[in-house]
Amino acid sequence: MIYDLRSMIFHWLSAIGYWPTRVGPRPQCASKISWTISMHPSTSAPPRRGTVIGCTVRNSLAWEGHGRGFIVAMHTPKPRSLPSVVTFASKFVAAAWLLSAQFSSLAQPGASWKTHDFRRPRPPVVQPGTPSTSEQPGKGPSDSIVLFDGKDLSQWSSLDGSPPKWIVRDACMECVKGSGYIRTLQNFGDCQLHVEWAAPVPAQGEGQGRGNSGVFLMGLYEVQVLDSYGNVTYADGQASAIYGQHPPLVNASRPPGQWQSYDIIFMRPRFGEKGELLAPARMTVLHNGVLVQNNVTLSGPTEWMSRKPFLAHASKLPLSLQDHGNPVRYRNIWIRELSDAGSKEFTFASSVLDRYVGTYRVDEGLTITVSRVDSQLTARLKSPGRENSFPLFAESQTAFFIKSVDAQIVFHPGADGKADALVFHIGGEQRPAKRIQ
Ligand code: MG
Repeated sequence: MIYDLRSMIFHWLSAIGYWPTRVGPRPQCASKISWTISMHPSTSAPPRRGTVIGCTVRNSLAWEGHGRGFIVAMHTPKPRSLPSVVTFASKFVAAAWLLSAQFSSLAQPGASWKTHDFRRPRPPVVQPGTPSTSEQPGKGPSDSIVLFDGKDLSQWSSLDGSPPKWIVRDACMECVKGSGYIRTLQNFGDCQLHVEWAAPVPAQGEGQGRGNSGVFLMGLYEVQVLDSYGNVTYADGQASAIYGQHPPLVNASRPPGQWQSYDIIFMRPRFGEKGELLAPARMTVLHNGVLVQNNVTLSGPTEWMSRKPFLAHASKLPLSLQDHGNPVRYRNIWIRELSDAGSKEFTFASSVLDRYVGTYRVDEGLTITVSRVDSQLTARLKSPGRENSFPLFAESQTAFFIKSVDAQIVFHPGADGKADALVFHIGGEQRPAKRIQ
């Protein structure tokens, strides 16, 4: 439910004879919207060619922050009287208000509730976690997903979905040079992430070669891990930098061998139906409890020697840790999903997904053909005169769901591991199907 308010403003401004000439920062655009809009002509005289009009847009997103943007437009073609402009502006504000009202049930903070309204739902109770000490890792809050607690790598795989080659010893996981990145099996979007890491001792190498690893949100956006204790490198590549984009506000590094923590709040980028960018990714990072990234806006994926723009991607993707050739250790990794937490989503190896590829007959009127491209399964439902395709998202190794429809496919593996049947859950019905191809 994201709409581009700026496009609407462009349309209205051009309709009243103004052409946008300057655009300020975009107000944060999200599913929970409450807008305040004001238009302010720069002169009280009737507008002439070259007259400038400003438009300020402010939203109030209590939990996603708030934003303020502006558009400045220059009057170009036909002069119109100021009253007509003001009338038109009032209509514009009214229309925006109506749009805003349309979303009022979603607006923050609680526009539909009275102050101190006792009927207002109270937040769920969460048991806070315990802090770590240098000797002992702490614990995450009760609603966090534990990604590593010192025991095993069951929540992790190599990037291709095969078992990870990092090692677990002394209740830590350690990067093995040349073994490749590891990633979570579960996919995440907006999240709060806690990671503890320690650079190797004795320190070896210089600059980017000393204690280098990285925490990649969605596998694309890196918070740099580096031994930056007395180790000089470029600012946007030191510990807790958003790599290649944002240096940390301060260097809060501890000496190598000591445990360090990252607490990361990540808001994923938003994309429209045509893949256009609606809102960039944002990140807040605390390094050892010190604020080092304050809700910064990313310009795109983080890369060495380049800044590429955002390219549309899924709303949830695995989190990954970098193998940069240094034996960096990790412990106590937990994550909390901040939105879209309803359904868990996983990315499994192609060899797992290939067990389900084939055609299944539900009845004479309906067949389901499952295919795979990379790590994405797709179900094509075919019935007389109708054919629809849906991407499938894994909620377990055998159960997959469709996001746009309340439907689920559960595969039944045969003796050889390949599925020989499935059950299609739709509208409260369970419709079994046998593989025919
Ligand atoms: Mg790195």
